[in-house]
Amino acid sequence: MIRLGPAGVPISSEDRSTLAGIRKVAELGLQAMEVEFVRRVYMDRKAAEEAGKLAEELGIELSVHAPYFINLCSDDKQKVAASKKRILDSCLRAWEMGAKIVVFHPGFYGKLSPEMAFQRVKRACEEMREWLDKKGIEVLLGPETMGRQSQFGTLEEIIRLCKAVKGCRPTVDFAHIYARQGGKIDFGQVFERLKVLKLKHYHCHFTCVEYSPAGVGRGNERYHLTLDKLKPDFRPLVKEILKRKLDITLISESPILEKDALKLKQIFEEEGYRF
Ligand SMILES: [Zn+2]
Repeated sequence: MIRLGPAGVPISSEDRSTLAGIRKVAELGLQAMEVEFVRRVYMDRKAAEEAGKLAEELGIELSVHAPYFINLCSDDKQKVAASKKRILDSCLRAWEMGAKIVVFHPGFYGKLSPEMAFQRVKRACEEMREWLDKKGIEVLLGPETMGRQSQFGTLEEIIRLCKAVKGCRPTVDFAHIYARQGGKIDFGQVFERLKVLKLKHYHCHFTCVEYSPAGVGRGNERYHLTLDKLKPDFRPLVKEILKRKLDITLISESPILEKDALKLKQIFEEEGYRF
């Protein structure tokens, strides 16, 4: 099954509430929406339950993006604790709204070696998992592949993390992988590398992206672009997904959110998929 949708309430929804966003997503013929807690976890329990109920009625799959102010690699214990709390608060709301995964940006290397950074992120994820399991919250932790050299989160690091910590699943951000590799991505190779995790379902982000090259194969994400810029071209991704018959959710982070989700939907249809 292939599900497409915007990162957040569709731009074309005049009413900016989550409920109106879910309704708009259904109206547009899309199947998913990521609830964006970009600055803070703004929802209470009641609102989360209402969103979940409506999404279920309309057959819309929800996911959650935790706030951006997160650094699980920090030397400052309080910062790590606050980061974990932001992720766990997001998990609680996700659980109440029936969302299966909470996406988050793990952190920055700072002065740490990649190995030290990995160990810190791993420990934080294990501790969060323990808390979630104790509370019976069956939401997946979804560390994201990141687009800057300063950020923890190459595809290899995220795969290693998800292998090490149960209840951790990668959020595969294709634009970030493309930018970080200096404008290169081989979608088939990405799925080959992910095979080791034996995933039944993939949660992914897509958008075109401008990047600054920093040495050969070492780029940095700059800003998001619309799909017509072909940076990268996503038709090869569509072909890989169909060839591999993947069960996948693709969240659009394009500047024109839902319009590019619909654009990708059109490409799937052109390649022979029926929604
Ligand atoms: Zn993200």
